[in-house]
Amino acid sequence: MGIKDIYYNKKNSTEEKISRVVENIKKVYLMDNRPWIVGYSGGKDSTTVVHLIFKALETIPVDKLSKKIYIISSDTMVETPLVKNLIDSNLSNIFLTAQKRHLPIETFKVKPEIEQTFWVNIIGRGYPTPNQTFRWCTDRMKIDPADKFIENIVDKSGEVIMLLGVRKGESNSRDKVIENHSIEESLLMRHTSLPNAFVFSPILEFNIDDIWTLLLNEKEQCPWGNDYSILYSLYNDSSSTECPLVVDKNIKESAGSCGNSRFGCWVCTVVSEDKALSGFIRTGTTWLSELLEYRNWLTEIRDDRTKRLKARTNGQYYFMNVPFKNEKIVIPKKSKRDKVEIGLDGIDNLGNKWEIFNKKSEAIEYIKNSSLKLNSSEDPRVIVKDYEGYSILGLGPFTFETRAEILLKLLQTQQNIFEKYNIEVELISKEEILEIAKLWIESGERIEPIVDAYETTLNKPFDYIFEEVSMLDNESLNLLERTCIENGVNFNEFLKLIELENENINLLQRKSITKQISNILNQDITNI
Ligand code: SF4
Repeated sequence: MGIKDIYYNKKNSTEEKISRVVENIKKVYLMDNRPWIVGYSGGKDSTTVVHLIFKALETIPVDKLSKKIYIISSDTMVETPLVKNLIDSNLSNIFLTAQKRHLPIETFKVKPEIEQTFWVNIIGRGYPTPNQTFRWCTDRMKIDPADKFIENIVDKSGEVIMLLGVRKGESNSRDKVIENHSIEESLLMRHTSLPNAFVFSPILEFNIDDIWTLLLNEKEQCPWGNDYSILYSLYNDSSSTECPLVVDKNIKESAGSCGNSRFGCWVCTVVSEDKALSGFIRTGTTWLSELLEYRNWLTEIRDDRTKRLKARTNGQYYFMNVPFKNEKIVIPKKSKRDKVEIGLDGIDNLGNKWEIFNKKSEAIEYIKNSSLKLNSSEDPRVIVKDYEGYSILGLGPFTFETRAEILLKLLQTQQNIFEKYNIEVELISKEEILEIAKLWIESGERIEPIVDAYETTLNKPFDYIFEEVSMLDNESLNLLERTCIENGVNFNEFLKLIELENENINLLQRKSITKQISNILNQDITNI
């Protein structure tokens, strides 16, 4: 019997499928001592997997529950705020319920290294915002942190089994990956890039109706006490799709960008039109319109030639071919960038003059001899016409000026949300701002624009950032966040209280502190 026969029989009723999946989970759990890592995205499919794991574990005698189950969730640090809160609350309740029932389940969040976050790559290194052809974000923000977690467990245990909420029939490419990595006669598949990791997808044969029949069935209460109707409401909008925890570079493409899902990053520029934030705004969370406005601006500036360097970070130039139509050299329209048409006399439709050369080396010589600064918004406006056709200078990273503008607008957005809605959000962490400053210094750039952006919007001296950051290192912060999640405490609120204590540590009279504590506790501090 092959994997197809084990799983895929559409004639089966949901109830039959559930009991078979519970049996399979039990069988694989008892099969060996390899720990499990469960990818939990907060979406319906991974929720179903965790639900069924609880169900299966309840049927196993306590003395046989020795194998560890790690439930991990990815936090890109630019998660859609409401979904992040939902995931935190679920992780916390999953952990607490498991503790009460003596189940060997632990919950973890995996985050990108500070050097690889969205803002550090964009503002620190000048990476253009990700799009369909240059989607640098998934590896750095999701796959690498998850792989690091898996490798750590592999180091300790030799091998691991990953449990994913993948279903057959979701997409042809996903089905192909599943087929290619299935181990005949087994419920496990090989992980496509980590040799000591295996994948178990218990709900392969579930269809969408099975999922909701299970989750919305009155007899099937959420084992950790959350309300599945909240989850269901996230899918009410037909445009909402899944954003699975991506742990495998080879299924990255089939997993899609998540930008059209309510479960992706709020700042996702991979999709042309945001659906995550607009869905929430439509259903009443109006303050998110500030984020949407910012995200749209960020998408618009991506291909603006004035916002990008005309050389790579290492100073190298490259040329990109452009079409020649109706006797005009055409720089095509891209996102909000308008089409530019240049005549053979070198004059474009805006009246600008372009220099035309017959060889790339001549164009480069011209750039070197002119006083043009390629590390600015200046465009040397050179065209090469050689045997490959017409080409212009390709675009490099965002200019430092633009990066400072991106930071300034981001902090302004954060401040606007506070002033207009009394909601405290941290759109970029202090650690990220310091890392950005470090990268600028390493590139020989002055950091005044970063300092100005910080001081003018947040109204406090930039120096404070060092005191606030140095209180806790990354590892301690992660541990603290995990402890907060496990105990149902708001992490950001907790950090604020520590900051307050730190600021007032030498005060003899501490009466005024109680008012500040109550302000913090009554504020709407939203985790982003
Ligand atoms: S949701 Fe968008 S920005 Fe976030 S990792 Fe996926 S593709 Fe990148």
